[in-house]
Amino acid sequence: MKLKNVLKHFHLVNKHRFYVFMLSCMAGIPFRGLIHDLSKYSYDEFWISCKYFDGKRSPIKIARDRLGYSTVWCHHKGRNKHHFEYWEDVSRDKRIGVFVPYKYIVESICDKVAAGMAYKGKDWNQHEPLGYWNNIDRDNIVVKHPGSVEFVDIVLKKIDTDGLKKVLRRKYLKKVYNEMCIKYNIGR
Ligand SMILES: [Zn+2]
Repeated sequence: MKLKNVLKHFHLVNKHRFYVFMLSCMAGIPFRGLIHDLSKYSYDEFWISCKYFDGKRSPIKIARDRLGYSTVWCHHKGRNKHHFEYWEDVSRDKRIGVFVPYKYIVESICDKVAAGMAYKGKDWNQHEPLGYWNNIDRDNIVVKHPGSVEFVDIVLKKIDTDGLKKVLRRKYLKKVYNEMCIKYNIGR
């Protein structure tokens, strides 16, 4: 393992967490932003990620290419409630998506925006989060609650047209979330 890769991975995690923190403050969930992705500093995530780090792609994807799976992702998804995978209830005969609670789904929006910013750098624009969601995340194999999907659809479409400042506001996000609760009959 190269020291250069350890430092680069450490820097990338910090940079991502910094972006998420800024966006979470805008969105009114600063504490979620502060503790976002802390498990990335744990042994099981940090050192294994350094081992597979190449600076161009996510170490999770590189591990999957080489081994067929990523133990880093197994560790991460089970501890971080901003991922849809956390809210998938898998039993012997069923996989059901649970409606993601407000603070975690807003954190997940901040995470999606920040991930694009970290990877695209200067080329990032407000259309990037919706593009990534529609092309890659939305219809992936993870079973999601339709209300959670619709919440992300609405918010990312709004970011696409109006930009971050108008959308990442507590009042607006709460309004959309409450509409989903009513539409999908979710008790609060
Ligand atoms: Zn995460």
